[in-house]
Amino acid sequence: MNKTCIIIGASHAGSELAIALRKEGWEGKILVISDDTHLPYHRPPLSKDFLSGEREKDSLLIRAAGIYEKQEIEFLLGVRVEKIDRAQKTVQLKNGEAIGYDKLAFCTGARVLPLRIPGAELDGVCYLRDMKDAEAIRAHIVPGGNAVIIGAGYIGLEAAASLTKLGMKVTVLEREDRVLKRVTDKVVADFFTKLHTEAGVTIHTSSSAHSFVGQDRVEMVELKNGQHLPADLVLVGIGVRPNSELAEAIGLEVNDGIVVDKYARTADPDIVAAGDCTSHPNALYGWHLRLESVPNAMDQAKSAAASICGIDKEYNSLPWFWSDQYDVTLQIAGLNLDYDQVVVRHNSQKEHSMVAWYLREGIVIAADCINYPKAFMAAKRFIPKQPRVNPAALADEAVDLKTLLKQG
Ligand SMILES: Cc1cc2nc3c(=O)[nH]c(=O)nc-3n(C[C@H](O)[C@H](O)[C@H](O)COP(=O)(O)OP(=O)(O)OC[C@H]3O[C@@H](n4cnc5c(N)ncnc54)[C@H](O)[C@@H]3O)c2cc1C
Repeated sequence: MNKTCIIIGASHAGSELAIALRKEGWEGKILVISDDTHLPYHRPPLSKDFLSGEREKDSLLIRAAGIYEKQEIEFLLGVRVEKIDRAQKTVQLKNGEAIGYDKLAFCTGARVLPLRIPGAELDGVCYLRDMKDAEAIRAHIVPGGNAVIIGAGYIGLEAAASLTKLGMKVTVLEREDRVLKRVTDKVVADFFTKLHTEAGVTIHTSSSAHSFVGQDRVEMVELKNGQHLPADLVLVGIGVRPNSELAEAIGLEVNDGIVVDKYARTADPDIVAAGDCTSHPNALYGWHLRLESVPNAMDQAKSAAASICGIDKEYNSLPWFWSDQYDVTLQIAGLNLDYDQVVVRHNSQKEHSMVAWYLREGIVIAADCINYPKAFMAAKRFIPKQPRVNPAALADEAVDLKTLLKQG
């Protein structure tokens, strides 16, 4: 087969798509182009055990180089795709070179939202999306020094835990009135606030940075209320934006992500997209979603690869995520969109263990499982069946979860 598939982006989606293409029988050339200089690596450890120094770079590769070589998957790394010509079927690189494709996959992911305030350019003001960012943060770690984290989402809180482990005095600033506001209920937010506070982290909610102050490097964060916080390191974690501009420029539909169908296809029969950069339909929740998670990137990439090979493989997985902070693992099954009830089940068998069940009109739609893998497995298995359960039984740890959810 004399055809070429170009994948833009070498991360979770790009790596999986390339491998899945071979599994689906693609015999042509596979070229993965990415502006990152590394072979695809796991991003989750960047805020967790890589940041805390418990894991090193070499262990982060998603697949060893030899696996790609064996599958004849080629990489062009440290190179940005600047333009696409749909009529000519070429991608254009920064150096002006044009490379032809027969099939094209966007696995372009997302990039961090910048915080544009005075002093934003100072050395020591960091973001966290890729290896280079994580290495820059590590270079600014001063045991006993002060770290200010802006944004109490998962990345901010995971980084707070990692920096605390390394002996930094950490302060987290959150614009909203509680942590994890966008993603969890108050009961889960309160759990994590307590966890961090007990570990020595200071959390300021309803609080925003006004400017970063320093000579050559950041020394202080000035808050909008006039207060000053000393800072050897600042980490801004206020969210991401999908890398969808290239797709938009060639006329593909974009709506908070590149719009694809359940087979990861765009409106162009030769172009697919997968991962953080897509907005895709989800039958369970009944609308288009853009997710930021490794399982989403990998599962959707498999559908995209099948589509390239002319096979319909529906992507319709239950969204799931995880977050590690200190000795706590949070596993999230489903999305808690528009929930109207939260039911908490404690697990007295284990420290720091509970699950918050999210219900909408009596149906379980999501679960935040804290150090509770058994509940997570049950949630992942049964939420797609939309169980309707008695809230009192759901809260009662004496009631067997699997049986309860199965009957619902
Ligand atoms: C610190 C951190 C911790 C995380 N923790 C978790 C976790 O615990 N659990 C979880 O499920 N998820 C986690 N995530 C999210 C997860 O990493 C993402 O959902 C996942 O990386 C998405 O993969 P992707 O391949 O879609 O995109 P990305 O990983 O964003 O990769 C896209 C790649 O494409 C490149 N690219 C974009 N445009 C171009 C272009 N024009 N030319 C060339 N290259 C281009 C980008 O530079 C990037 O390298 C975490 C993310 C971060 C940053």
